[in-house]
Amino acid sequence: MKTEYVSMTQDDIDRDAIARAGEILKSGGLVAFPTETVYGLGGDALNPESSRRIYAAKGRPSDNPLIVHVCRYEDISRIVTEIPAGAGKMAKAFWPGPLTMIFNKSPLVPYETTGGLDTVAVRFPSNTIAHALIEAGGGYIAAPSANRSGRPSPTVARYCREDLDGRVDMIIDGGPVGIGLESSIIDFTEEEPTILRPGYITREMMEQVLGHVEVDHTIIDPKSGIVPKAPGMKYRHYAPKGSLTIVEGPADKVVNYINEHLEKAKARGEKTGVICTHETRDRYIADSVKDVGSRDNVDEIAGNLFHVLREFDDEKVTWMYSEAFYGTGFHMAVMNRLQKSAGQQIVHLS
Ligand code: AMP
Ligand code: MG
Repeated sequence: MKTEYVSMTQDDIDRDAIARAGEILKSGGLVAFPTETVYGLGGDALNPESSRRIYAAKGRPSDNPLIVHVCRYEDISRIVTEIPAGAGKMAKAFWPGPLTMIFNKSPLVPYETTGGLDTVAVRFPSNTIAHALIEAGGGYIAAPSANRSGRPSPTVARYCREDLDGRVDMIIDGGPVGIGLESSIIDFTEEEPTILRPGYITREMMEQVLGHVEVDHTIIDPKSGIVPKAPGMKYRHYAPKGSLTIVEGPADKVVNYINEHLEKAKARGEKTGVICTHETRDRYIADSVKDVGSRDNVDEIAGNLFHVLREFDDEKVTWMYSEAFYGTGFHMAVMNRLQKSAGQQIVHLS
């Protein structure tokens, strides 16, 4: 298949291209498009054949359900059986925005889209290109991140091209995304609302609206061996091709530990890399030192994370360390993705 490339901005939407994209979606084709979190790979969520194509294009396991994107709050009533009061409040507070909510699904949503589950994940994104595309495509667009399965989610259109050229009908370049990590996911089909994936909308923000919320045990303790409730969270994700280890502890000790191990790795012939912050970047001896931002600015760190993981692959780096970014709020999402990238290899220094 030949992939068509178009570009536009949120302030200047190319209506002709969107109309073509809408036709592609309505006839079962696939379109990659920008959202405020990461680029999505869209198909008609109500067409089982479209969902099958999404899994095939990504190489994604078909038990890993897709998030259905809408462009109006009212539209969710057709695809869910009921909207719990808490979910209505959350929508008021955070939609459109980087929040996905899980409901019991109506019969309209095919099992191909939900990976066989009776529940459906729904999001109303804030990107205006996404709005135009969802509307043109019929109002219900299933869209996982627009990467090949296992790779970091794309934060620019170039990465969609790298992963999906020739596998999708169209890629819409809308410039770099704002947030850079996927949406927060909260499940409203449990007794207590439960966070299944941390993101930009933090537990603290949700608790201001809902009172107490639970957090899926596997986010707090990834090594517990318990199967996460969000099927996608059990897979190794975002993994660079080489080995990545997170090192956590007092800054000086972390720098010394990493440098010592980099030296040994270099001696073995590895090409080495480090993910660090402005504060420490000049202290590392790695072949490739990636400064993801200031330690005080977690938004900046989040926005750069997937990009540097891809750069390591481009540079054929084989042996990597990362500083840890523990903290409350959005830090939880950053560490969740970083821990997945590292396949949970973490060294704790005290
Ligand atoms: P992605 O679309 O690549 O951001 O991944 C979507 C995430 O949402 C995966 O981790 C899925 O397992 C999760 N997800 C989607 N639908 C459901 C659902 N009905 N129940 C639980 N998790 C879901
Ligand atoms: Mg994904």
